[in-house]
Amino acid sequence: MAYKTVNPYTNELVKAYPDATNEEIETAIATGDRLYNQWWDEPVASRAATLHKIADLLRANEDELARIATVDMGKLYAESQGEVELCAIIADYYAEHGAEMLKPTPISSRNTGDAEILHQATGVLMMVEPWNFPYYQIMRVFAPNFMVGNPMILKHASNTPGSAAAFEKVVTDAGAPAGSLTNLFASYDQVANIIADPRVQGVALTGSKRGGQSVAEVAGKNLKKNSMELGGSDAFVVLSDADVDKAVDLAWRVRIYNAGQVCTSDKRFIVADNLYDEFLKKLKASFEKLVPGDPMDPKTTIAPMNSKRAKDKLQGQIDKAVAGGAKVYYGNQPVDLPGQFIQPTILTDIDKDNPEFYDEMFGPVAQVFKVSSDEEAVKLANDSELGLGGIVVSEDAQHGRAVAEKIETGMVFVNSFLVSLPELPFGGVKGSGYGREMSQLGLTAFTNEKLVVTAQEPDWNNPAGGLAVFK
Ligand code: NAP
Repeated sequence: MAYKTVNPYTNELVKAYPDATNEEIETAIATGDRLYNQWWDEPVASRAATLHKIADLLRANEDELARIATVDMGKLYAESQGEVELCAIIADYYAEHGAEMLKPTPISSRNTGDAEILHQATGVLMMVEPWNFPYYQIMRVFAPNFMVGNPMILKHASNTPGSAAAFEKVVTDAGAPAGSLTNLFASYDQVANIIADPRVQGVALTGSKRGGQSVAEVAGKNLKKNSMELGGSDAFVVLSDADVDKAVDLAWRVRIYNAGQVCTSDKRFIVADNLYDEFLKKLKASFEKLVPGDPMDPKTTIAPMNSKRAKDKLQGQIDKAVAGGAKVYYGNQPVDLPGQFIQPTILTDIDKDNPEFYDEMFGPVAQVFKVSSDEEAVKLANDSELGLGGIVVSEDAQHGRAVAEKIETGMVFVNSFLVSLPELPFGGVKGSGYGREMSQLGLTAFTNEKLVVTAQEPDWNNPAGGLAVFK
């Protein structure tokens, strides 16, 4: 049984789940395909009430859902509660606006008749999701595609099966028809078979570069549309005119949230030289105050990492960085608790030859760099194989905006933490993947953008039509 909940705070095996059978997979695809065809005869707006109901059930069961997520992957209970609320916000948003956003888009054309783009469903989708936001990652794909009319099959991370099952139950309890979202404890091979099935029309993956490359390869081979939301090594740029206290107040929070296991959590802090020493001193003071402990305890402020594997990987990266010349400014000491803890750590002096320079450190480790100009800051921020998000801090917001424009990522926030909301597009460039989730862009990620031109009769004089030759 590959799918297991092992509580990352107690290290206890909570529950193991049976692997999906091939029969279950066939049933899931067939049920989804039937639903896809059924939904063609139902207006988009008819699904809004169910999606609102899903939001209501999420809110009504917030505490229990939050507990399940925290036991699955260790995040602070209050963070899990916030995640459940965010899922409800996303569901409500698409329920309220989805039908309007999916109305045909007219095109002004010199052609005779009316040209318009219809935004139509394409078929069953496969979604492959990670453990770090075990509900929100599903909702980002589920809510828009439920409105569109694309039934979905979910393969969640092997360490968050409790959250996967709980999410599926909310959808079922809200009265969504069978096949709307089917959770399967599927193997990689089974996922590849699902993607290859002609009834399946697309795959959305959020995860690592390694996972993304494997799934995109299968999707490419089978010519299936796909979106890839991959890792990030986002820069947090502190410009020379920033207020250090405000910058640090933002910096420690974005780095520590979810024990640093956030794709858009800033991992590289690029600080103007006039502020560098003070920034480091104050960042250290903030990290020192963090209290590791039981993520269910409201007094705990730094959660364990999601698994032993994740902790070992990050510790290995820190060791490699240090062996390669990085200095430990703070942290990197063992935490005397049973869970999978990494002490919040600050690394400096990471130069380009360091073996970790281009790696994403997915946990509570801040790499801090010193630069002497805006240009140098932008150059360093862009010297990355990844391009997901970023933050720029300046007392002059327009100065920050000018620098933000030059950063090669999918999202940049000036003087604010990077929020994920249904109306804002989410996604990256370069090794961080392609495609966008949420917003109008996410809603149409897996639609058929179908051109329909409606005329009363042909315009034989239309110079663009070769048919005019036969007059
Ligand atoms: P991962 O190993 O790629 O796992 C993500 C999901 O992909 C899991 O469900 C995993 O299943 C599955 N998977 C991996 N290889 C697969 C394959 N060959 N076939 C089918 N499924 C496969 O990612 P992770 O390391 O756990 O997650 C952290 C990464 O996700 C970080 O790099 C982070 O930055 C990124 N992330 C990106 C975003 C974004 O929106 N851009 C958001 C959150 C996280 P198993 O669990 O069974 O291996």
